[in-house]
Amino acid sequence: MAKTGFYPGSFDPVTYGHLDIIARSARMVDHLVLGVGVHHGKASMLNAEVRVQLLETVCSPISTTTGMNITVATFDDLAIDAARRAGAGLVIRGLRDASDFDYEVQMGQMNAAMAPDVETVFLAASPATRMIASSLVKQIAKMGGEISAFVPPEAKAALAKALK
Ligand code: ADP
Repeated sequence: MAKTGFYPGSFDPVTYGHLDIIARSARMVDHLVLGVGVHHGKASMLNAEVRVQLLETVCSPISTTTGMNITVATFDDLAIDAARRAGAGLVIRGLRDASDFDYEVQMGQMNAAMAPDVETVFLAASPATRMIASSLVKQIAKMGGEISAFVPPEAKAALAKALK
């Protein structure tokens, strides 16, 4: 039976760090649903449609290379409910450092209490992309810095457009 995973995040914008986690997910699942969180009151630089479109564009080559089917969906409720809707048995999250670890493990355990049928899997960030954070990318872009090492060209263009 095909295995489905759910990878939730803000993806504001998608970075090479996210893409590393997405590509490595292909070792675990046949179908990956990327959940773009669009929670009320959480300000984003890129609107939901742009974030979804960006993910679809930059993930298409990963799908071709790995054979993993990738789809993108927005959600505005609990990630665990969105995972269930997607038919996912696994929630995938990335861990960069100790603060990610503390937060992610706590959230994973609370999700497990609410949904014992869904397992959260943590992938340690790869050394080359571990330092990348969407929030810092946005700050650098706002100040006119070069972000090509951190995000795909499509994301860089979308940020430039949003900043105009
Ligand atoms: P949020 O932090 O708002 O949930 P993000 O899109 O920043 O959304 O992150 C989504 C997931 O991706 C989180 O599990 C986060 O730890 C992970 N992640 C973000 N950046 C990286 C990176 N550079 N390497 C590995 N995982 C990452």
